[in-house]
Amino acid sequence: MSAGSSANEPAPLVTAYVALGANLGDAQATVRQAMDALDRLPLSRVARRSSLYRSAPIARDSAGRADGPDYINAVVALDTRLPALDLLDQLQALERAAGRERSSPDAPRTLDLDILLYGDAHINSPRLSVPHPRMAQRAFVLVPLAEIAPELASAAQLAVVADQAIQRLQTGV
Ligand code: AMP
Repeated sequence: MSAGSSANEPAPLVTAYVALGANLGDAQATVRQAMDALDRLPLSRVARRSSLYRSAPIARDSAGRADGPDYINAVVALDTRLPALDLLDQLQALERAAGRERSSPDAPRTLDLDILLYGDAHINSPRLSVPHPRMAQRAFVLVPLAEIAPELASAAQLAVVADQAIQRLQTGV
């Protein structure tokens, strides 16, 4: 067996950044509970949590407003030994547990969890694209990300999304 590939070795520790969004029901409570649930995932621990933010829904393929109530958004840094696709499975299980129904891509959702970054990995598989392909276009991702990892969201990147309304909520996470 080659060096570093023993089945008994723990998988490497990676810092992943996960975006949380909710715009149905008690969205603030949903996002807080999801942060706690992320901290309980196997082989994982939430290292940093952003504040909660409020943003208007944006259509997936444009800068236009989508239907539905405002979103509550946040980003967490997750230290994890889960492989990326296992992490995606876990996030989708949490979304299902929150009662998410998808009638259309821009439909309101109880809970949306996206992997923004998985260490410095570049992944393009049928189920997973990392870095998340739309993260650079969305203030609701870049602004909370900049709060907990300023080195990952430059001033130039933030300037690109500066016209998108986003409000930091004055509540403790
Ligand atoms: P969304 O509506 O944004 O939650 O998209 C869900 C779909 O995006 C799922 O089918 C995922 O497999 C896929 N997907 C691709 N890349 C990612 C990513 N980085 N994070 C979460 N879901 C992703």
